[in-house]
Amino acid sequence: MFYTSYIEISKSALHHNLNFLNNHILKNVKVSSVVKGNAYGHGIEFYIPLAESCGINHFSVFSADEAYRVQKASINKNTIMIMGLVEDEQLAWAIENEIEFYVFEFDRLEKATELAKKIKKKATIHIELETGMNRTGFIQKDIGKITKFITKNSAFINFKGLCTHYAGAESITNYYRIKKQQKSFQKSIQKFKDKNVIPEQIHSACSAAALRYPKSQMDMVRLGIVQYGFFPNKEIYIEYLTKKKITEDPLRRIISWKSKVMDVKTVKAGEFVGYGTSYLANSNLKIATIPVGYSHGFSRSLSNQGRVLIHGHRINVIGIVNMNMITVDVTEIEHVQKGDEVVLIGKQGDLEISVSSFSEFSDQVNYELLTRLPQNLPRFIVD
Ligand SMILES: *Cc1c(COP(=O)(O)O)cnc(C)c1O
Repeated sequence: MFYTSYIEISKSALHHNLNFLNNHILKNVKVSSVVKGNAYGHGIEFYIPLAESCGINHFSVFSADEAYRVQKASINKNTIMIMGLVEDEQLAWAIENEIEFYVFEFDRLEKATELAKKIKKKATIHIELETGMNRTGFIQKDIGKITKFITKNSAFINFKGLCTHYAGAESITNYYRIKKQQKSFQKSIQKFKDKNVIPEQIHSACSAAALRYPKSQMDMVRLGIVQYGFFPNKEIYIEYLTKKKITEDPLRRIISWKSKVMDVKTVKAGEFVGYGTSYLANSNLKIATIPVGYSHGFSRSLSNQGRVLIHGHRINVIGIVNMNMITVDVTEIEHVQKGDEVVLIGKQGDLEISVSSFSEFSDQVNYELLTRLPQNLPRFIVD
């Protein structure tokens, strides 16, 4: 209802990114749209119907609470897959609602089977394998026991997927580790095949893996960051441009974050601006305040560092980022006044403030900055 800043989500940019992906995802590979972290800050309730209208029909989340929100937001009742936590009391809900989930320990496998029996509905599971990330997943030694269990309980278990996750496919320093993981995964897949326990889908790739190691795409890719218009990091971006011999970013950010000028005033040379002494006016200044601060996700480390766009100019943040406000130097803009549009992330005129330029200053990766955008900022879908 009332707000001091807002987020715009561009439908045409999403279309554009999904087209880009279509050219890089091999034939017959399913795309799962990863929407954990409030759809990387874009807002689950807004993003799901939009993605569905662009043809997405599979969503991946981290936990049951996110799955619940996706289910409520989904118009087409599409597939939802939980890649992380489902607590015991949430398992029954998941099974009843045909929500798919990862299983990486026997306890969950047994509980899911028990509940499936009770509910009289199969539990649809993805067996996660530990291949070298050392986070969650069954080790190779467990495979005999898993295959036996699945065979015995096939009336209650729908063995949908066999999967793993790479420990940093976006960085070439992890090359050998990823290759080792791929080998281990292949070996495990064979073990399942040997026991004739065959999953419907085998999957391993996130955005970086799908782009850098096309073979990792297998039956399904779990794409997060790229669909929102970001390369996972600079390295993958530059590798991609070099390989394709292009110079322009082929992706388009779908998010913009905007606010308005709240006040304009002048400061005399020799005065400090804001709390303390971190910014000294060297000359007479015209300053504007913007009603966005660290409580809204504008990191305090952007004090004296951040930039915003006003009237198509790149404007510096001066002084400390406050809880609810920043101050910017608008001396160079002639007719700036209360109510003028301020772009915190996105385009204005010929300029763009990208999340990455923003996050470099604040020492956050794309992922962190996006997912920290508050859930309660209003979001609007624009073309
Ligand atoms: C987050 C996540 C992804 C998506 O990662 P991106 O780099 O955003 O594409 C894929 N798989 C798993 C298991 C994840 O946790």
